[in-house]
Amino acid sequence: MKKNYLLAPGPTPVPESALLAMAKPMIHHRTPQFSQIFKETCEMLRDVFQTKEDVLILASSGTGAMEGSITNLFSAGDEVLAINGGKFGERWGQISEAYGLKVHWIKVEWGDAVEADDVKKMLDENPNIKGVLTQASETSTTVQHPIKELATITKDRDCLLIVDGITAVGVADIPMDEWGIDVLLSGSQKAFMLPPGLAFVALSQKAWKQSETSTLPKYYFNFAKEKKNIAKDTSAYTPAVSLIIGLREVLLLFKETGLKEMFAKMDRLGRATRAAMEALGLKLLAPKAPSFAVTGVYVPEGVDGAALVKYMRDTIGVTIAGGQDHLKGKIIRIAHLGYVDTFDTITVVAAVEMALKKFGADVQLGRGVAAAEEILSEQYA
Ligand SMILES: *Cc1c(COP(=O)(O)O)cnc(C)c1O
Repeated sequence: MKKNYLLAPGPTPVPESALLAMAKPMIHHRTPQFSQIFKETCEMLRDVFQTKEDVLILASSGTGAMEGSITNLFSAGDEVLAINGGKFGERWGQISEAYGLKVHWIKVEWGDAVEADDVKKMLDENPNIKGVLTQASETSTTVQHPIKELATITKDRDCLLIVDGITAVGVADIPMDEWGIDVLLSGSQKAFMLPPGLAFVALSQKAWKQSETSTLPKYYFNFAKEKKNIAKDTSAYTPAVSLIIGLREVLLLFKETGLKEMFAKMDRLGRATRAAMEALGLKLLAPKAPSFAVTGVYVPEGVDGAALVKYMRDTIGVTIAGGQDHLKGKIIRIAHLGYVDTFDTITVVAAVEMALKKFGADVQLGRGVAAAEEILSEQYA
């Protein structure tokens, strides 16, 4: 009998209250009972997105909200700018191209954040660009992009800032309305600590205005239609009833904890993880602008990162993530978002130490754990 720990950047562990609520017998969605749950859930979601706008709940993985943001805001031939600093930035551009948009790319080295000045220059030179597509946290390269600065650039232009916040909303302080983000989206299986299957998206007034002129084909992901239904405490199509019931439980936990406290915790877990990896002599993938949700480190020369991840999962029982594309086998990624805390972080650091030693790396057991504990102790100070 092995106990398994899930510390990959999604899916993340699901808290007990959500699991139990989701296990209850099915209820019908067109009932006062479900409408009440839906209404409360939508209200609490607004608080987490830090917006007074509606947050639409879609039955899809996070990519559905990305695709819907393109089809609901643009028309064929429109120009957009995609910040391509990893797999998910690349996805923004690919979706846009699939719908016939003209995509300008800013290619960012994996492990670096985009320079706000480069975005400004691109927009100055191409005044027809109607949307900047970016991640707040590029999960594949463990980087955070400078969203607040980007918002100051798009704010006074005829251009929307569209932010994939799938590993950022509920992890770090990204106040949508205050900063002037036009589209902010997320998904259920990362910071929202639920099974995969829900996507969330909120639009600013500026974005809703632009959506009125969009002519790309849309049917299932029709944001205006969802907004109309939210006003009646329901959704256009059959909602993912059980997931929304679980979401309500998660949002109650968020509320009980408070956003400030949550952000402080994630920040502490992130700092502890980075300190631990550096104490082990490993090199961070994104030292300058590390993601709030996940830490990437290079494995030592001679160690096969993919085999290390597999060993940790199958033998030790701790699931983390490896690298993608050219970083395959070269890095590991350790999550610190969702339903994880101090002792999950200590567990994963200890597991990395033991696995590295097993793979012949020159590590001193306990050194990473000690560095992590120094920071994690702040919680009890
Ligand atoms: C996980 C993730 C996605 C993709 O979400 P799916 O739920 O797999 O569709 C998109 N963007 C970021 C930043 C992610 O971390």
